Amino acid sequence: MKTNNSSIKKSIHLLKKNECVGIPTETVYGLAANAYSSKAILKVFKLKRRPRTNPLIVHYHDIKFLKNDCYLNNRFMKLYKLFCPGPITFILKKKPNSNISKFVTNNKKTLAVRFPKHRTTRLLLKNISFPLAAPSANVSTSISPVTKKDVLEEFGSKIKYVIDGGKTKVGLESTIIDVTGRPKILRVGGLDLRTINKSLKLNLNYNFKNKYKAPGQSKLHYSPGIPIILNVKKPKKFSAYILISKRRYNNKNYFYLTKNRNLNEAGQNLYKILRNIKRKKYKLIEVENIPNQGLGLTINDRLKRASYK
Ligand code: AMP
Ligand code: MG
Repeated sequence: MKTNNSSIKKSIHLLKKNECVGIPTETVYGLAANAYSSKAILKVFKLKRRPRTNPLIVHYHDIKFLKNDCYLNNRFMKLYKLFCPGPITFILKKKPNSNISKFVTNNKKTLAVRFPKHRTTRLLLKNISFPLAAPSANVSTSISPVTKKDVLEEFGSKIKYVIDGGKTKVGLESTIIDVTGRPKILRVGGLDLRTINKSLKLNLNYNFKNKYKAPGQSKLHYSPGIPIILNVKKPKKFSAYILISKRRYNNKNYFYLTKNRNLNEAGQNLYKILRNIKRKKYKLIEVENIPNQGLGLTINDRLKRASYK
């Protein structure tokens, strides 16, 4: 191994023993396990309390190993060269002789793959001979983790080890695009849809009630367990009010995702603020109008799911 980084060594040791490890990525922290080992993958489902019908995303360092598991096509290669490593997940056709555990895909003929951007996780991936299945490191339907502390809050002593990679840079899950045929967006995420459209010269769109969805996209997701009302101009006194622009007067129930409508910054702060509001035991969340474009589309999607009753 080229690196002497002790966190990587420790992670490799555990992953080889079919244990789960918390890993930082640019989107959110992942709960990683050897994607070739059914024993390891079943531990991920158990720890997350995730339904087995919801398949996992598999993380690779680059396309060298991916070729063993999937068929690559031109559309994929174009997007890969432009945006990877980065916050985009591809649905590809799986090779029948691939070693990916059947529990990863829930027996599907397709595989979700991603190339995460975090330096430590890339070093980790470079030094193992198997890809990592890694859903977000939170209990199913709970708030996605953006720091090591969040992961520990989710799993406590049930998780053997979490690599500390600081706060995640994008803070929202990856954008999922199905490239097995005509490209389809299955989930909006950290990569702006407009950027994808521009590069493919397409007009892909997405709305909350999209017909094509990733199988596990339950309406209730990313949920702080508190009712959320969107597009509120005047908040109630007792609610937690989420804002993206600075107000003249500040109340202690105001929670800023950004003070100058910077949607990248808003995305980075979304899950941290939802967790903070939950900790403070607010009974209602109200949200200022957030424009439905770019990362605003993703932020609104997550808030709608979190508010679904
Ligand atoms: P998470 O890792 O928790 O952010 O969730 C991963 C998402 O990827 C879920 O919504 C899955 O349904 C989706 N996904 C994983 N594998 C596939 C696949 N083969 N086809 C479509 N969606 C998938
Ligand atoms: Mg998740």
